[in-house]
Amino acid sequence: MLSTMQDAPLTIGRIVRHGTGMYSSSEVVTWTGTEGRREQYGQTGRKAAQLAHALRGLGVTGDQRVGTFMWNNAEHLQAYLAVPAMGAVLHTLNLRLFPEQLTYITNHAADHVVIVDASIAPLFARVLPTFSTVKHVVVANGPVEALEAPAGIEVHSYDELLAAQPDSYDWPEVDERQAAAMCYTSGTTGNPKGVVYSHRSIYLHSMQVCMSDSMGLAGSDKTLVIVPQFHAMSWGLPYASMLVGASLLMPDRFLQPEPLAAMIAAEKPSFAGAVPTIWQGLLAYLEGNPVDMSSLRDVIVGGSACPPSLMHAFQEKYGIHITHAWGMTETSPLGSVARPPAGVTGDAEWPYRYSQGRPPASVSARLMDDDGNEVPWDGESVGELEVRGPWIAASYYRQDEDGEGAEKFRDGWLRTGDVGAFTSDGFLKLTDRSKDVIKSGGEWISSVDLENQVMAHPAVAEAAVVGIPDEKWDERPLVAIVLREGHSVEPQELREFLEGRVARWQVPENFTYIDEVPKTSVGKFDKKRIRAAYADGKLD
Ligand code: ADP
Repeated sequence: MLSTMQDAPLTIGRIVRHGTGMYSSSEVVTWTGTEGRREQYGQTGRKAAQLAHALRGLGVTGDQRVGTFMWNNAEHLQAYLAVPAMGAVLHTLNLRLFPEQLTYITNHAADHVVIVDASIAPLFARVLPTFSTVKHVVVANGPVEALEAPAGIEVHSYDELLAAQPDSYDWPEVDERQAAAMCYTSGTTGNPKGVVYSHRSIYLHSMQVCMSDSMGLAGSDKTLVIVPQFHAMSWGLPYASMLVGASLLMPDRFLQPEPLAAMIAAEKPSFAGAVPTIWQGLLAYLEGNPVDMSSLRDVIVGGSACPPSLMHAFQEKYGIHITHAWGMTETSPLGSVARPPAGVTGDAEWPYRYSQGRPPASVSARLMDDDGNEVPWDGESVGELEVRGPWIAASYYRQDEDGEGAEKFRDGWLRTGDVGAFTSDGFLKLTDRSKDVIKSGGEWISSVDLENQVMAHPAVAEAAVVGIPDEKWDERPLVAIVLREGHSVEPQELREFLEGRVARWQVPENFTYIDEVPKTSVGKFDKKRIRAAYADGKLD
């Protein structure tokens, strides 16, 4: 029998109405390099309404795609609200992609309008002629002259376009299963793959972000959104903040340690989210430039494994609690969060906090071996992680046309490509991405484990470990090291440091010193590039 309950769709429109109405005095603060540019949620709601009218005026109908080529700022937030709430689909473009990837994803998604930040308009102008579906470009935060467009594409000023519009919008009732936003993920082979989020998946995910044993975001928080709005929807932080009325702090293009530290000192966030490399950079900067960071009560670190040394350093030097989380673009992204179980306190918390944590109720997980059998959750048996749930992708956009990416899905589960073990009480310990595991003499070496151990050495700022070809063992680990300023350490000393910390046969022979670890477009270690540089197995 059917329930007697109302069937109210879970939509972005609901988040917009509630957030901008109920919490009209919460703020979105955009950093300008020296101070915060402030706007209240009430105003954000009015601007979102104006933007929706303006986009209708540019011919956006139905589920047409509106792209954004933007930093994290108030205007990008307005697009996050307006585009899905009016029934169209927000497509966040990754600013750091190669031109040919941008061309591919913009054409593949068939974006009709793109909103572009003036500071990166020249970059955008270079690829614009290759876009076959874009009819309008809207330039925000600067003059339209910043962008030269080929014939047939109209360029508009964001401010002028909005100024002419009414500031309320009757947000339509949208089916909660309709597409709300999309994001392309790099994918290991072939072209980038489009993940299309529904209103429902975003709504449920936002609620999860606010659960106390999850990310635990609350209305009293000030959320510093360092993770880019084009990287898996900023991990859901903007929508979740709107849902509970937490103020949003947006760093715009000021993502280097110095301005970030200044912004933290001035705006006093209580909550933040970013990949480990951002925090590593901040940590190194703070050493010589102490800044008051004490407002931060919790920092979510994910996107790649968080080194234990980073958690300890922030806790011990600055009293900042880092919470480790795992996710992917395909998982909205929240897949697991490392909160120790009830009753575990003090030093006993650490092993739980180092892990990738437990999946929430809405995310089911299993581990599979190479033969497609489930692996037991005994803390040791290793397999590939597969997940499913209401905010996990079931396929890629337009996958039915070319079948690309179909291998990532099996029997309703997403194959993550991540390898690890579960403890019997559900804590996930990832050893590696399957493509990063080092196969040495028939045994596996976890590149992440080795990195964490090397990074525990006081002279090491960052370490990336990849497998390089080896005649005898097939592959052996190579450690690429960035030294902390003013420190040095010889390979032999590192080898001695690693004895006892990892199995003897895993202790690497190969070390190389570099100025900086190459990073991907979302700031993770780019191991593909390191591997390519040493593909012949030689160190010079
Ligand atoms: P990309 O594939 O472009 O890096 P994603 O952000 O979707 O884009 O990457 C998801 C992947 O990031 C996961 O499959 C996993 O390999 C890695 N990852 C995310 N969080 C963690 C974590 N806490 N620990 C280890 N790996 C992580």
